[in-house]
Amino acid sequence: MRTELLGCSDEDIKLAAQLIKAGEVVGMPTETVYGLAANALEPNASKKIYKAKGRPSDNPLIVHICELEMINSLVKYIPDIAKECSKKFWSGPLTMVLPKSDIIPFETSGGLDTVGIRFPANQTACKLIEKSGVPIAAPSANRSGSPSPTCAKHVFEDMNGRIPAILDDGSCSIGVESTVICFEGEDGIRILRPGFISAEDFMQITDKVYIDKGVLHSVANDQKVASPGMKYKHYSPACDVTIIDIDNHKLAEFAGSLSESTAIVTPNLIENSQKLKCKNLVFGDTAEKQAKNLFDLLRELDELKCTKAYFTRPLEGGVGMAVLNRLLRAAAFKVIKI
Ligand code: AMP
Ligand code: MG
Repeated sequence: MRTELLGCSDEDIKLAAQLIKAGEVVGMPTETVYGLAANALEPNASKKIYKAKGRPSDNPLIVHICELEMINSLVKYIPDIAKECSKKFWSGPLTMVLPKSDIIPFETSGGLDTVGIRFPANQTACKLIEKSGVPIAAPSANRSGSPSPTCAKHVFEDMNGRIPAILDDGSCSIGVESTVICFEGEDGIRILRPGFISAEDFMQITDKVYIDKGVLHSVANDQKVASPGMKYKHYSPACDVTIIDIDNHKLAEFAGSLSESTAIVTPNLIENSQKLKCKNLVFGDTAEKQAKNLFDLLRELDELKCTKAYFTRPLEGGVGMAVLNRLLRAAAFKVIKI
């Protein structure tokens, strides 16, 4: 199969919508990362997504909508707190897990009785959903296990020959996937996967905000988890990644001890970094910049053929927890204190 790289004009989106209507899978931009889009109501279309990604079939797909009312037919009920969240954070990078209605096939929900629903802010995504006339299932558009794609080039690298088309809408503005939450009791929110919408943001709605254990700890493969994606190997470049807890004033000395095939990823360039044997890549000096750069960096390490990379611990606050969650998995939870 030839993979066509489309732009994001109305004509391009119309073409992509025709493919979706025909049961095909299309690369779709969102504000978080690129997704692999297909008709969420069609079991065979969802199966094609799993096949293109090489994704385990018990790892559920998020279903995307382009107007609030679309959620009504997709879930059994919507608690008041979910309505509040949708008012405050939609359209945007938030996925809410709710009991699924019968029209969502188990092929889409990964066999679960629940479904994650998201209303993206990206206009190309919204137009594609609208023109397709169906809710769209869309996981991140990477091969299972690889870093998520934040531009059309990344999708092409992973999906060339596996899907018929990709809509190119430039770089994703956020760079890490949506926050996934479920609800507990009348007014509890549990974060299953952190994202741009943070625990601090949910505190504006309720003081009962819980962070699932799987967010910052490793989960055994055979363990039952609230968010199935957490048990799988994730975001891993070929390069061996380690997180370092290190004071700024020790950075230059540590970097000086590293060999040519190694990279150190730091908030800003280290002084005189051109004199280092190792490569020095920039992570960014805010949590938002680190979120936007993370997946690009993980791919760049492989392009540069680095065999080892040290990342400084992600900055805390806001989207920082999402960066740490992804990086911990990329690093197979290796954190060292220097
Ligand atoms: P991705 O599609 O790559 O962004 O990953 C979606 C992730 O969202 C999955 O791996 C799950 O961890 C989580 N998720 C999606 N739907 C559900 C659900 N119904 N229940 C719990 N977690 C979900
Ligand atoms: Mg993913």
